[in-house]
Amino acid sequence: MQTDLLSLFCSLVRVPSPSGRELQVSRKIYTYLKGHGIKAHYDGAGKHTGGNCGNLVAEIDGKGPAIMFIAHIDTVEDGKTPINPIVRNGTVYSDGKTVLGADNKAAVAALMSALLEIKELDKRPRVIAAFTVSEESGVMGASFLRPRAKPGHVFVIDGSSRVGTFISSALGDTSFQLKFIGKSVHTAYAERGINAMKAAGIMIARQRLGKYGDERYVNIGGIISDGKDNVVPGSVSLIGEARALSKPKMDGLMREIEKNAKEACRMTGCSYRLYINKRNSVPPYSARLDKKTIRMARSASRSAGLKFGLVQVKGTMETNVLQARYKSVIGISRGGKMPHSKEESVSEKDMLSLRNLVISIAKSAVE
Ligand SMILES: [Zn+2]
Repeated sequence: MQTDLLSLFCSLVRVPSPSGRELQVSRKIYTYLKGHGIKAHYDGAGKHTGGNCGNLVAEIDGKGPAIMFIAHIDTVEDGKTPINPIVRNGTVYSDGKTVLGADNKAAVAALMSALLEIKELDKRPRVIAAFTVSEESGVMGASFLRPRAKPGHVFVIDGSSRVGTFISSALGDTSFQLKFIGKSVHTAYAERGINAMKAAGIMIARQRLGKYGDERYVNIGGIISDGKDNVVPGSVSLIGEARALSKPKMDGLMREIEKNAKEACRMTGCSYRLYINKRNSVPPYSARLDKKTIRMARSASRSAGLKFGLVQVKGTMETNVLQARYKSVIGISRGGKMPHSKEESVSEKDMLSLRNLVISIAKSAVE
């Protein structure tokens, strides 16, 4: 089984799958599952995400309420430079030219492999495994999942904490564009104009940027102006985001941003508009875990020989968008190291542990 899982993982990362271009790798997953007697179908998420396919949803029949596992299949690679996995002492690395794509294909491989074993269990729950698209781009194919049976428990596999760690909260992310509107005139008539750049500058100087004490963040990362050297700019936009762990905290950050924008306008005579980029924003995730989910997670960790733990993560995850739709949503750490970098790696041990954990969760659902 060991070498099988490792070679399955390597075969997946060799297929490029940047966000929106997951068709090829999903076909590979589809063929693998079908070859082992597991049915899967594509949903309509591709229409909404603008990608070349939807989520691939596999199902295994069983008793009781369904449990759903989710693993996104897109990676942060550019899709041009092929990923060349190299195995050294039981750990897989890229050749240093690209990311490895263990985020999230280590989870994908472990889940695929686990499904084969779950299918053979005498006592098993109904299992839905969703291989989702466009997570890394923030568009979140997972938010368009509509499985036929509504699952009682949803497990999202992602994140690089130790395997055995479950994720119960993740930062939300509000992406915004703050536009200052002044009046554009030639430099020689500057007294008749209103300089929007000045408002933007005051805004940047006034706004607290970076980390706040309690896991809140504000960033301004871009500035848009069609400015020329001899024109007082009439319109300047700032691009940024706010991150927080709860809705009230997020609302507080957005109020602070507006307050500073108003002050910048008061000082310059500009007006402003604040646009929220809904496509790239996700709400904070804070699990309302029912007792059964926690019990399943605990007992599955124990029987897979892993130390159970609960953590919060700074990144946004599919948990954030799924929480609105399902009663009990929890994240499962995938393991691996240095995701989104050329130094990314994952050990075979992590993948095996993850596979065993998924199988144990399925078993614990019918205990
Ligand atoms: Zn990921």
